[in-house]
Amino acid sequence: MKCIMCGGKEEEKMVEHKEFGISLGKFKGMVCTSCGEVFFDAQTADKIQARSKELGLFGLSSKKTKVAQVGNSLAIRIPKEIAKFINLKKEEEVRIIPKGKREFMVEIG
Ligand SMILES: [Zn+2]
Repeated sequence: MKCIMCGGKEEEKMVEHKEFGISLGKFKGMVCTSCGEVFFDAQTADKIQARSKELGLFGLSSKKTKVAQVGNSLAIRIPKEIAKFINLKKEEEVRIIPKGKREFMVEIG
C-alpha cells in the first residue's frame, strides 16, 4: 500500500505508541519509509483505544473548562481526570508560561 500522506512506500513494523509521553506498548502498523507516518488498521486502533482507556489516558486531550473570575484574577478549573493524571494537588505551586498569543503551559513545581 502507498502512504496516503505522501505516496511513499509503506512497510509493516512493530511501532511503539505513546499518548502524553506514556507508552501504551508496541503495535503492528504500516510505516511510510518516506515521511514516517504510521497507520494502524481498525482492529489495532481498537486495541490501542482499549489500552488507552485502561491506563486512564483516553479522552484527556479533549477536556474543556471555563475561565472564571476570582477577584482581579482569572481562574481555570482543572478537570479532575487531568489533575489526577499529572498528579496536581491543591495549594501546589505552578508556573504559567505563555507559548504564544493563544496558548500557555503550566509547569508544576
Ligand atoms: Zn509518507
